[in-house]
Amino acid sequence: DYISAIPVESDMYLNTSSTIKLRVPDDDDCQEAMLLKNLYLSCDPYMRGVKHSDDAASSTLQDRIVFFATDKPIVGYGVSKVVDSKHPEFKAGDLVWGITKWEEYTLIKNTQSFFKINHTDVPLSYYTGILGMPGMTAYAGFYEVCNPKKGEYVYVSSAFGAVGQLVGQFAKLMGCYVVGSAGSQEKVDILKNKFGFDEAFNYKEEADLAAALKRYFPQGIDIYFENVGGKMLDAVLLNMRLHGRIAVCGMISQYNFEQHQGVTNLMHLVYNRVRMEGFFVPDFYHLYPKFLDLVVPYIKQGNITYAEDIVEGLENGPASLVRLFSGRNAGKAVVVVARD
Ligand code: NDP
Repeated sequence: DYISAIPVESDMYLNTSSTIKLRVPDDDDCQEAMLLKNLYLSCDPYMRGVKHSDDAASSTLQDRIVFFATDKPIVGYGVSKVVDSKHPEFKAGDLVWGITKWEEYTLIKNTQSFFKINHTDVPLSYYTGILGMPGMTAYAGFYEVCNPKKGEYVYVSSAFGAVGQLVGQFAKLMGCYVVGSAGSQEKVDILKNKFGFDEAFNYKEEADLAAALKRYFPQGIDIYFENVGGKMLDAVLLNMRLHGRIAVCGMISQYNFEQHQGVTNLMHLVYNRVRMEGFFVPDFYHLYPKFLDLVVPYIKQGNITYAEDIVEGLENGPASLVRLFSGRNAGKAVVVVARD
């Protein structure tokens, strides 16, 4: 059942008793399996947002993957090294990113969700963030869903997060005017001074979010990259421009509620002919090579920077995951299990 509460560290425990196998077994169901040594694990808000459902008939990937099951390792994105493989496309020594488990070694029977890592002259941890699923989320959401144009007015919520910091930088590179919000003055300063946002504000200090947005966007918002939901979405709806676009990436303010909070200003979609569209990043994974061609040079030339919040050791994973929901992560939350 869905647990309607903010996750706490004691919801998770470290199991040190399991034995480690260093070979893919010869079982019939392991004919295309690979054994991974997990290096970096990714803490992502969606891990909290899914139902604890094991319904294989469910129509969406989000419902089918069980991220948390009692007494089982947490499931999530990570960067791993192939230790042994029976799959023709992956061999021992390859580096990969995809959906693994929060453990030292993982046997993967279904390799469909894995990408081989070819660019190793950037930090490997980037494949949990800017060069992995969150990076693809920013890319797909901004370029494919928002239909951005030079000079447009862009607002990004949770702008210092794994996805948001990249959306803002993409928008700046496109020549847009970009404002981000985050939950502390320190984050606001970094958004403006390091990531090049035109403006940023601390949403926790704004009693009237709609008025704050009006202050930063007197002419209105063309593009809203939605990461937060709830009251923030309601305030944005009052500030959208004619023919604006809202890419609904996520709604982290709602993940710990069973009943999501009501949004009352939806009629403004009609008044301003706004297109609001949800998207799910795996639907865009076929664009991954194109994404790498764009982003890897940007990273190497210093046109894009990326902030990570790295903790060492699997035992510190629960604290890192929990911190996402109070905003205590400063950038992409990553857990180091091993460095090679
Ligand atoms: P973040 O790195 O942004 O981490 C979460 C941040 O959200 C926190 O640091 C905090 O920052 C903010 N936050 C937490 N609780 C609240 C709250 N109640 N109200 C407002 N802000 C809050 O996460 P990601 O960048 O990885 O993810 C961003 C969004 O994208 C999430 O909603 C996620 O679910 C979604 N997502 C969607 C995907 C898709 O396919 N559609 C794929 C990947 C992610 P602050 O200091 O600003 O409060």
